[in-house]
Amino acid sequence: AESNGNGTMESHFKLPQIKFTKLFINGHFVDSVSGRTFETIDPRTGDVIANIAEGDKEDVDLAVQAARQAFDNGPWPRLPGAERGRILLKFADLIDEHTEELAMLDAIDAGKLLHLAKFLDIPETAENLRYYAGAADKIHGETLKMSRELQGYTLKEPIGVVGHIIPRNFPSTMFSMKVGPALAAGCTMIVKPAEQTPLSALYYAHLAKLAGIPDGVLNVVPGFGHTAGAALSSHMDVDMISFTGSTEVGSLIMQAAAKSNLKPVCLELGGKSPFIIFDDADVDKVADLALQGCYFNKGEICVAGSRVFVQEGIYDKFLLKLKEKVENWVVGDPFEPTSHYGPQVDKKQYERVLSYIDKGNKEGATLFHGGKALERKGYYIEPTIFIDVTDDMTIAKEEIFGPIMSVLKFKTIDEVIKRANATKYGLAAGIMTNDLNTANTVSRSIRAGAIWINCYFGFDKDIPYGGYKMSGFGRDMGIDGLVKYLQVKSVVTPIYNSPW
Ligand code: NAD
Repeated sequence: AESNGNGTMESHFKLPQIKFTKLFINGHFVDSVSGRTFETIDPRTGDVIANIAEGDKEDVDLAVQAARQAFDNGPWPRLPGAERGRILLKFADLIDEHTEELAMLDAIDAGKLLHLAKFLDIPETAENLRYYAGAADKIHGETLKMSRELQGYTLKEPIGVVGHIIPRNFPSTMFSMKVGPALAAGCTMIVKPAEQTPLSALYYAHLAKLAGIPDGVLNVVPGFGHTAGAALSSHMDVDMISFTGSTEVGSLIMQAAAKSNLKPVCLELGGKSPFIIFDDADVDKVADLALQGCYFNKGEICVAGSRVFVQEGIYDKFLLKLKEKVENWVVGDPFEPTSHYGPQVDKKQYERVLSYIDKGNKEGATLFHGGKALERKGYYIEPTIFIDVTDDMTIAKEEIFGPIMSVLKFKTIDEVIKRANATKYGLAAGIMTNDLNTANTVSRSIRAGAIWINCYFGFDKDIPYGGYKMSGFGRDMGIDGLVKYLQVKSVVTPIYNSPW
């Protein structure tokens, strides 16, 4: 059923019409085989935005068949790289032309700030595609062996049919950082967006078709994880899974891959990243950065700096600044330009975050700021800070994925390295110091995929990122993000009558 999304929601903003609610398989929008649909919800109100066709095993089978056919016999993997690049550039231009609408879709579906989606998420989505468009005609192997007897070289071939399973926190950028490099490599694919945020992925499918991506190359099958997601990861005819999401689900995906056809997996998983402030840091600057690092996108970000370690000499001064600055954070409707962040993505996540606040209080941390839900409709939670947090408390150990900061005090560099590393995760770390030796030592000592010195969220399209330890393996973004979609084939032939 198509729903326009207007009318029932309390907002003075004109909401976008929801144009695409069906599965996108083999170049067409189709109902699910079962005919079932599921509701996608506006987290600002809890109201239904639209009913989306619910993909399940049978639909995944059809999408995989289409992608298989497109890979084995279709033009996409066989086009010159430059031609794939040209089509990707067109796709990116079409995204730019529809920025407003796409930003609206992510704002109502994920509760993301509209102004940020417009200036960050959607432009970055297009830029990611352009970056990989530029790489599409620079994929080449190496000459390996030149002797009198043998000659060898490598061919870089697309890995085949890829299943992308993506999370709900960055529906657009996640889409492009998976789909962009896989398309550039010449793969065909099935995207399973998160059940909370299917709207923009379906819109991208429509734009991809307009851009000239052949039918069957890019399929989008919304649905639930334990059904559609599981069918994809255990499918015998899928050659690779590229997953971003929680560590728990990452483990299930790897098991499914192992039990089916041993397809390789790339796992971008959860985190509990340290944000480390040394005595010599600029208090004013780091207080702002710490708040951004923890509350950006309402804390629904894998690399959130949720453990803020503060050296004892600066501790009291930092807390005063933090308090002063957090008072200015406005939690509100993501359509209002004054809001710093909006509602948690859904009721489940909202309740989960509140349960961690409860645990923080019960386990003896001191509630320094916030600690409550807003008294209004929708899933809004105050920016919350706990101090006197110890490493063994649940809020210091588990990924919360919400606006909860734990502040921990430390004395020495050795101590903080040990404590920062005492986690099963290893996604990112922030180091705030002007001392070069400290910055260098800590950078090399932290077991995490991204280190940000005197900044946080050091993301860009050419900077690879991914996890150590239980934050996963494999890299997205940058050239590393492309290489994983390539097979390396070596070709060797004997040489006769070589002059040297
Ligand atoms: P999630 O793991 O609940 O879901 C992610 C995706 O997996 C969804 O599309 C979901 O439907 C699917 N899924 C669920 N169960 C499945 C199953 N059994 N088989 C196959 N697929 C299944 O994660 P989420 O709640 O959407 O996102 C939050 C998590 O994602 C956090 O842990 C966060 O840290 C992580 N994340 C990591 C990165 C990164 O790059 N490392 C980036 C963003 C988010």
